[in-house]
Amino acid sequence: MAFVPLNAQHLVPDAIKEEAGIALSHYPELADTPITFKIVKKIKQSTMRAQPKFNSLIKGRQKRAYVILISEHIKISNQVFLTQDVPKDIMIGWLGHELGHVMDYRERSTLNLIWFGLKYYFSGAYIKEAERAADTFAVAHGMHEYILKTKRFILENADIEEKYKARIRRYYLSPEEIMAIVKKREASGPSS
Ligand SMILES: [Zn+2]
Repeated sequence: MAFVPLNAQHLVPDAIKEEAGIALSHYPELADTPITFKIVKKIKQSTMRAQPKFNSLIKGRQKRAYVILISEHIKISNQVFLTQDVPKDIMIGWLGHELGHVMDYRERSTLNLIWFGLKYYFSGAYIKEAERAADTFAVAHGMHEYILKTKRFILENADIEEKYKARIRRYYLSPEEIMAIVKKREASGPSS
């Protein structure tokens, strides 16, 4: 496994430095993209979220910076589950999915991103499109094993809220769909 040291563009808290480094090593295109990983108390509706840095939006697509917010806790019914206690491969898969969102965002113009944010907020169909795009980017960057582990970890964990699992089933790629993409990629050769 190639390990690219974190560069000056990528700010990562110590607790997830190794995991973020491995996830980033799958996305050489993001080497010059400023990305800050930030652990926060709580994120509405979610465990992690990737978004453009608001004050970088006016700078235009090339200079845009991103932040990946990581909730301190995973949503569970009755026990405390710290995000930093999540097994390493699961965290790598999770971060790989968030970096898939960054890949999606960097293709978009500023106006498109703002419009995207609104649509994401108001439309379930749009959430599904965005989440599946992020998963697809991660799988296309060779992260399918991590992504599958992360999905199984959530869906097969009795301590994780059913509501959260239902969201994962509703909006994200299923393990079967991921394997179908992997097979298709293998059939079309090693190019990206
Ligand atoms: Zn996502």
